Amino acid sequence: MKRRHWLGSVAAMAVPPRAGASQAGAVPLPEYEPRSMLRVKETRVERSRFPVIDIHTHLSWSSPLGKEVAPRMTARPEEILAVMDRKNIRTMVNLTGGYGKALEEVIAYWQKPHPGRFLVFTEPSWNRTPEPGYANFQADELARARQAGAHGLKILKTLGLYLREKVTSGPLVKIDDPRFDPMWEAAGGLKMPVAIHTSDPEAFFLPIDRFNERYEELHAHPDWSFHGKDFPSSRELHEARNRIVARHPRTRFLVLHVGVCEDLEYMSGLLDRYPNMWVEFGARIGELGRQPRTARRFFDRYQDRILFGTDAVPGGDDTPQQVFGERLYEIYYRFLETGDEYFDYAPAPVPPQGRWRISGLGLPEPVLEKVYYRNAERLLSLAPR
Ligand SMILES: [Zn+2]
Repeated sequence: MKRRHWLGSVAAMAVPPRAGASQAGAVPLPEYEPRSMLRVKETRVERSRFPVIDIHTHLSWSSPLGKEVAPRMTARPEEILAVMDRKNIRTMVNLTGGYGKALEEVIAYWQKPHPGRFLVFTEPSWNRTPEPGYANFQADELARARQAGAHGLKILKTLGLYLREKVTSGPLVKIDDPRFDPMWEAAGGLKMPVAIHTSDPEAFFLPIDRFNERYEELHAHPDWSFHGKDFPSSRELHEARNRIVARHPRTRFLVLHVGVCEDLEYMSGLLDRYPNMWVEFGARIGELGRQPRTARRFFDRYQDRILFGTDAVPGGDDTPQQVFGERLYEIYYRFLETGDEYFDYAPAPVPPQGRWRISGLGLPEPVLEKVYYRNAERLLSLAPR
């Protein structure tokens, strides 16, 4: 390089760094988007190897504390069906169907007009928990929901983290509070699986500081933190959930988000202990895919009790790892089916749940078939296809 050109390029480097950068040239964390220099295999999986039952989606919402309100549909069936057909999704299970009249509306909107394509779960009416006679009311309500067409019961992390003795005030209600026992028991009798979300990522229970591996996520959503105040530890919540699984062996519990996805050894212990416990991995391929060898062993060992789920929500961009769409499903298929290395777990410029990338599991066909739909058929007592 001629000296003139060399000086020119030094001058170019010396131009003031882009807006927002410090004088030393440091890039603010939110602006840092490193591009990987790895040249490794990239496989595009446009359609899943087998038809999919997505056991964890949100096609409608009702009030999280269980007040009976009109449901809010997150999309129209036609737009969802178009994506389903292109991505080989046979069925989507809408977990947040609410209860009572709202549930009937949700079933009439999604499930009835499209048999086999959409299934709806019901939710408890948490706002009635302080009332005397709640325990039996809720058990009977579940039977009514079954009659109305609900296929299972969904428990949001509301139980354990939000629901209080006077609904919004007082001490937190424990997950294994005995007043829910008739409901868990009824679910078993009605063959309605209980899809239960307990706690949250372990890092959400730690201080939001420079040591927190989900710092950016928590910094953007401080309300997702359960550090301090009167919140129990994450493990205490999981242990309370384990006690209800143990107390109701006839009831099948689908532990959402793989329970403690950061600790598959702990989860293996639970799956060994409780034959009525199943798991689903919605919004957790970021966790599984950063420990691909441990995760692969986990899938091999529990291949009969792991279900495909995405936690997909149509619209919105608050949680890129959950935005319903073709890109989301392609990432899941790539993760399950290929041995690709170091790719993004979410359709986003920066990995939203922590700055790392994932590797695929390369599951064999018999395991894929179970995870994609056979296990869901069994859990939901659907006629095998
Ligand atoms: Zn969810």
